[in-house]
Amino acid sequence: MDQHNLILGLVERYPELEGCLTDVDTVGNERDLFRKQDFLEMQPGFRKLHQHGFHIRSHHGETWRTLRYGIQAVDNAMNIWHIDRLEHGLSLGINPNYYFHSIMQRVLEWNRKGRGVPLGSMEAFELEDMDWKEHGGVLGKIMDGDPLSDDEVREFSRVKFYAAREVERYQHDVLNRMIDKGVSITSLPSSNQRLTTSLPDYKDHPFSWWERKNVRQGVGTDNYITLDTDYLQELVILLLSDPKNLKITKLLMVATGEARRPYLSKLLWDMG
Ligand SMILES: [Zn+2]
Repeated sequence: MDQHNLILGLVERYPELEGCLTDVDTVGNERDLFRKQDFLEMQPGFRKLHQHGFHIRSHHGETWRTLRYGIQAVDNAMNIWHIDRLEHGLSLGINPNYYFHSIMQRVLEWNRKGRGVPLGSMEAFELEDMDWKEHGGVLGKIMDGDPLSDDEVREFSRVKFYAAREVERYQHDVLNRMIDKGVSITSLPSSNQRLTTSLPDYKDHPFSWWERKNVRQGVGTDNYITLDTDYLQELVILLLSDPKNLKITKLLMVATGEARRPYLSKLLWDMG
């Protein structure tokens, strides 16, 4: 509340700031801050800023303990803080089937070599979050590195399948609510690629997929000094993330906010 009052006090003391101070943003390590109560603390302050016309942004869905928590963080930011803009949002763009399947393949590879799953690793968190029901013994063997029988591998595969399906449903539900509410997502590709392990390559960035789903989008650099990048470079990265389907005119429309496609096309032609 102290920070919120400071911001509102500034606008009151210096009315000329009104058109310049328009948004507040929250940034930080989100891995352990995904629960409802983590968001409730700042809710009254954001409500007050909202009433004074401020837009609320937050950096969420970039890193997570489990993908489900990564989605939950976005869900809570949307429901409790009523954000207008989400920065990163990768947890809403990762394909859960692919994500969980690659975890399983990695873990099975270790298991064949008699290696267990390192405690505190992303694989360990995801495996422990799955619903093993009466098959806790299989989880135990995986964690310890006791080689699995063929039947146990099949059981692992089944548990993984249901985990992926449940997370996928939750993900689509949150993404659809975001689209309904008109909350936009800002893509920050350099940051996503370097700070998470869930985006193996730039081509895995979901920008183009979101574009096809009609998500309101934006582009940014996150922290251009630390990441040694700039806005144009981020645009080029996004363009190359899906060179077949993403058109430069479409990307420029997102980046500039210019909605007249023919006008942008003309500018591009004129450059030639
Ligand atoms: Zn960030």
